[in-house]
Amino acid sequence: MIDESRVEGGALSRDGVAAEVALAEVRALRAGDRPTHGGRLFAYVYDPAVPGLDDLAAAAHRESAHVNGLDPTAFPSLLAMENALVAAAGRVLGGGPGTTAPDVVGSVTSGGTESLILAVKAARDAHPELTAPRIVVPASAHAAFAKAAHYLRVALDVVPVSPDTLRPDPAAMAAAIRPETVLVACSAPSYAHGVVDPVAEIAAAAADAGVRCHVDACFGGWTLPYLRRLGAPVPAFDFAVPGVTSISVDLHKYAYAPKGVSVLLHRDAALRAPQYFAYADWPGYTMINPVIASTRSGGPIAAAYATLRHLGDSGYLALAERTRDAVAGLAAAVRGVDGLRLMAEPESTVVCFTATEGGPDLFVLVDELTARGWHTQPQLSYAGLPASVHLTVTAAVAPRVAEFGPDLVDAVAAARAAGPVRLPGELAALAGALTPDALTPELVAGLAAGLGLGAEPAAGEDGGSTAGPLPERMALVNTLLDAAPPALRERLLVEFVGLLQRPSW
Ligand SMILES: *Cc1c(COP(=O)(O)O)cnc(C)c1O
Repeated sequence: MIDESRVEGGALSRDGVAAEVALAEVRALRAGDRPTHGGRLFAYVYDPAVPGLDDLAAAAHRESAHVNGLDPTAFPSLLAMENALVAAAGRVLGGGPGTTAPDVVGSVTSGGTESLILAVKAARDAHPELTAPRIVVPASAHAAFAKAAHYLRVALDVVPVSPDTLRPDPAAMAAAIRPETVLVACSAPSYAHGVVDPVAEIAAAAADAGVRCHVDACFGGWTLPYLRRLGAPVPAFDFAVPGVTSISVDLHKYAYAPKGVSVLLHRDAALRAPQYFAYADWPGYTMINPVIASTRSGGPIAAAYATLRHLGDSGYLALAERTRDAVAGLAAAVRGVDGLRLMAEPESTVVCFTATEGGPDLFVLVDELTARGWHTQPQLSYAGLPASVHLTVTAAVAPRVAEFGPDLVDAVAAARAAGPVRLPGELAALAGALTPDALTPELVAGLAAGLGLGAEPAAGEDGGSTAGPLPERMALVNTLLDAAPPALRERLLVEFVGLLQRPSW
């Protein structure tokens, strides 16, 4: 028996609320988010600042939100839109009729991570004879490869990148290939630094060894071809490169579609076949899934379709031009500041910088930029690479570029004046002595309280500065994480986010 007095709680109200009330609640919650428009957010959101595009995508999403991608025979509209998106991605990436990769096929997935998991799955399942399959990736490869390896129980062989070029040595990639290797991967470009790996050499080495080669173009696959058409010296990275067997490109990044759409392309159908999962050995409907999800909303796919149809090739070219100019302007601003240096000369749509010897504390600088309305992404130091600040640049940034330079100068001055954050004695002692296995709930709670994380205002608040579950300034958290080795970082992140993810009864 359900106790009716306990039905109401959280999102569930006793008798429902008026539609306007429900929507007003969403809007009120959204007001606390970082701004998704306005060109001052350099991560998570890709904004072309094209008038009317949001409304178009939302309308298309609404048309297809309840359509289920589970069964393409019941909903041919979705199959048609998916095939059109795959064809478009194939064309942008050097495949299709009249190219050296005429037989390219693909699937629409929910995002880059799913595309990469499926690329690894297809490679793994093409070799059922291998009991301990492995993949080779550069250290700069997206973390989603590690996730894929973890989920699929495939070993991950990581090849270091040069601290100067931020790229792997193709010879080292080739040397890492073993008899159990099912996939070699590289990025075009890498997310962290925006540099394009030596795809041609890596793909040639993979082909020589008879191994698949995946190019992760999730981030830049939709911009590099346009930047090349605008005259940028973009190296070959797509299906024009012999040996490249699959490519991923996220439409919810630089194709400017709303979230939930990526494309995984294979050079031919035989390469794609082991990606599918089919099951007929149960009493329900026979299941044939090209991707991880079974029930899938048509909403994101329709929104992506409408976005591509509306912007068109010349639209993307114009957006790439605006983005390129914004990148140049931001990079010039960084070059103009004493104490900062670019991690790499921008060759795509990322500006990534670090501090020089005696420069400002980057984590404090990130907070100072946030205080000035610029939302950048701190990257922790890793394997000989210094901590850095990442800016994903989209077309919406172009009109803001002139304001960035003076604010950056100002923020650097403020960060210098403030000096680096120091971990309070007990935090430093804890962090120094900790191993992931030694973390107890009490230690985590103590660390979180010291950092101002996950605090419920009532719970023994002792004058800490938090109003909500996250501190206004993140430098202390970032400094602690930066001081910890990756395995401890991972555990701390899991524990901290676990503290945030609690039911709001
Ligand atoms: C964003 C990104 C991914 C992961 O994509 P999600 O859509 O966040 O799952 C993978 N690789 C690269 C290079 C990316 O930039």
